[in-house]
Amino acid sequence: MSETTRAVVLGGSVAGLCAAGVLARHFDEVVVLERDELPEGAEHRRGAPQSRHPHFLLNAGRRAIEQIFPGVEEYACSLGAQVRNPALCTASCGPYGWSARARGEMTMLYTSRITLERALRDKARELPNVIVVEQAIAKGLITDRAANRVCGVRWVGPDTGGDTTIDADLVIDALGRGSKVSDWLGGAGWEQPPVDTLDAKATYSSRWYQAPTGDDRPSEWWWDHLAVMPTADRGSHPLEHDYLSTIFPIEDDRWIVFMGSWGLDMPRTVEDFESRAERVRAPAFPNAIKQAEPTSEVYVTKSTGNKWRRYDLMADPPRSLVSVGDSICAFNPLYGQGMSAAAVTATILDECIRSTTELDEVSAEFLTRQRDYLKIPWSLATARDRGYDHAEGTLAIESSRRRALTGRMSWPAFSFIMRAAAEDSVVEEHFARVFNIEESLADMMRNPKVLARLAIFGVRLALRRTRLPEPLDPLQDPPGADLSQLVGK
Ligand SMILES: Cc1cc2nc3c(=O)[nH]c(=O)nc-3n(C[C@H](O)[C@H](O)[C@H](O)COP(=O)(O)OP(=O)(O)OC[C@H]3O[C@@H](n4cnc5c(N)ncnc54)[C@H](O)[C@@H]3O)c2cc1C
Repeated sequence: MSETTRAVVLGGSVAGLCAAGVLARHFDEVVVLERDELPEGAEHRRGAPQSRHPHFLLNAGRRAIEQIFPGVEEYACSLGAQVRNPALCTASCGPYGWSARARGEMTMLYTSRITLERALRDKARELPNVIVVEQAIAKGLITDRAANRVCGVRWVGPDTGGDTTIDADLVIDALGRGSKVSDWLGGAGWEQPPVDTLDAKATYSSRWYQAPTGDDRPSEWWWDHLAVMPTADRGSHPLEHDYLSTIFPIEDDRWIVFMGSWGLDMPRTVEDFESRAERVRAPAFPNAIKQAEPTSEVYVTKSTGNKWRRYDLMADPPRSLVSVGDSICAFNPLYGQGMSAAAVTATILDECIRSTTELDEVSAEFLTRQRDYLKIPWSLATARDRGYDHAEGTLAIESSRRRALTGRMSWPAFSFIMRAAAEDSVVEEHFARVFNIEESLADMMRNPKVLARLAIFGVRLALRRTRLPEPLDPLQDPPGADLSQLVGK
């Protein structure tokens, strides 16, 4: 690209910052319009209320942000983030009980969303041709319907004295779940994109704590991260046994303590949070919380449905406009995919700009390649969510029998694959790739090598000859013995 060019990014959150990072390599000027006043440090802000809840960054996301902003992980670590081996540092209570502890191949960056976003923001601000305009509200698009293109943005800022416009060679919609871009296109004469939806009513309830350290930390706490999955028990049991509960370690020895569920009403007050934590199926969870110092109120969100705006299915999607992050495809966050998918698709945008000779062709090329990638996280998120009776949306399974079967199979199947992965390097490699949104679930389950290894593990399980011991009763303390040697690690 040789002519002077400008890209305008709408939204300065994770997806917008990642997009700005790659666009800075190709455009003379990248203008990010962000509605919020952005904090200097790691602080919550109005436009990203989800930052109060735990955020997992998967391997694919880690690699992508590093590709976009070299050195960002080291910088995040200097702000307190930590790289850990989750299989070794997590006390994990699966549907049948505590898993044995053995090293895994996967590592993960543990940090709060606010610190990660701060690291990305600081890195983006270092780029000389990226201009972040704060308190800048995008209000519409400037379009040329006859030429089927978007040419700029209508916006208002603190110093603009009312609505103003900015021309752009490429507009990036990174406005999150609530993006109005498809409405704006509709108002300008384009058809609305079809929208795929599936809302399994995942609800998050989180509270922040300061963890005990040094001599105050109980010696039996070998773990950094504690996770309790919903029970596999199909009989009657307390409601809280169906929670997914986590003690998620973040910087400065703090925890985000989280209880979540598919479709249950979750605690909103401190009293309710504490009393329901008591009834979580593994007492290690409430026992640990009681020894930490709460530092926040309880935060609840239900804004979690899977939603994919299918711009790729429009007859004539406008040129010079691309949507990234939650604005195009938002996932049930219980699967921890949103930030990683946003970062990976930003690297795809980078590749598309590199491989296209005409800027005009970028949006169409990107839409196709983005769709092919998004199918991977989308299929993982929707596969489980479709099994819930209460799930609503265009992808909800109509047949109650099929739905019940999907629902009954999913946790046991997940637990079986997890156990096989802990013992078998081939299953582990593929499962880690699926979990890290690098391979689709369908591709893994079609792979003859994986199927053979799963079958062998199934036989070992039936004969009670697994290398790692059976899951341990959730009422006990999580087993801390490092059994990596038993599985050749
Ligand atoms: C409870 C919860 C937990 C989650 N956990 C995880 C997790 O574990 N792992 C993971 O990878 N992802 C997780 N996610 C998803 C993750 O937060 C998002 O995928 C990620 O933030 C990318 O979002 P985004 O940048 O597309 O949009 P957002 O983060 O929603 O940002 C949109 C931005 O646009 C700005 N904006 C809005 N309107 C305007 C306007 N008119 N003009 C200018 N600016 C505007 C907002 O201020 C905001 O900064 C979670 C989400 C939720 C809700």
